[in-house]
Amino acid sequence: MTSKRELGRGERVLPGVYRLRLPLPWPGVPHCNAWAVSAGDGFVLFDTGWHGPDSMANLERALAMCDLRIEDTRLVVCTHAHSDHCGQAATIVERVGCELWMHPSHELMSQMVADPDAVLARRLEVARQSGVPEEPLRRYAEQRGTSEPGIAGPIAPEKELVSGVTIGTDLGEWVAYETPGHAPSHVCLFQPERRLLISGDHLLGRISLYFEFGYSPNPVGEFLSSLDVVERLGARLCLAGHGRTFTDVHAHIEGNRSLVEEHLGQVSQALTDGEPTAFEVVTRIHGDSLSQQNAHWLLSQTLGYLTQLEALGNARRIPGEPERWAA
Ligand SMILES: [Zn+2]
Ligand SMILES: [Zn+2]
Repeated sequence: MTSKRELGRGERVLPGVYRLRLPLPWPGVPHCNAWAVSAGDGFVLFDTGWHGPDSMANLERALAMCDLRIEDTRLVVCTHAHSDHCGQAATIVERVGCELWMHPSHELMSQMVADPDAVLARRLEVARQSGVPEEPLRRYAEQRGTSEPGIAGPIAPEKELVSGVTIGTDLGEWVAYETPGHAPSHVCLFQPERRLLISGDHLLGRISLYFEFGYSPNPVGEFLSSLDVVERLGARLCLAGHGRTFTDVHAHIEGNRSLVEEHLGQVSQALTDGEPTAFEVVTRIHGDSLSQQNAHWLLSQTLGYLTQLEALGNARRIPGEPERWAA
């Protein structure tokens, strides 16, 4: 957050397709992409970037570099309900008067807008139940209270972006495919004639996994099924939510599968001794690299893997306070 101020940048990646690279205030994730695709006398905006003090200026700057104006947005489509992908939707929709289309499973993000304290309370309850000791819990609660949500206002989509919904552009129609896992609201958009895929955070050029835990039954299992869905599409170019476009889509799908396998193996291994809590599994795997900053992230990912191992019959949940796990 003390890093130098980055500015929004725009570039044409194909005729009628523009990458809008927008800065983020997060350590390790310096920017995200929104994609503008020409449609009639304007364009469809896929994702919006995070909302913060300079975020609209950055979006307009990126658009201007492509000779586009925010007023010519004909539709906003969001791949999923994370602040770096839909944070600015409310502002754009209000200013331009266009519609927002998005998947209906945006419970977590909507709750973060309406009642952030309730989201924090639920996280703390999950952490306590997972065996996190009182002292780090208390520090986490204090620290989290100060972070910005990065979202301009309530999410109110005019249309539910479920599988089969199509979006018209000058490049032809884009078809929505539900791809939950990274988030329950995640959708990829595929343009079949050109085999282009707007992949959000489901597939990224630099493979990194994140599962929103606690808002769907089994995010890791859902993510693996979503990889199958996308593999069948046979995309040749991926327009991802972060980083550059990439062409070796199949290799990226395989890379995601093997990384999930690797993580499941680590969690499995951590269950071979005694009946650990999820927090003890985290400390067994991540030990020294566990910090206040990554604790929530590592815990929710580990809970995701434990839930998938349970679904596969390779782990058993032992109810109690705290909950424990056995191989
Ligand atoms: Zn995301
Ligand atoms: Zn993202």
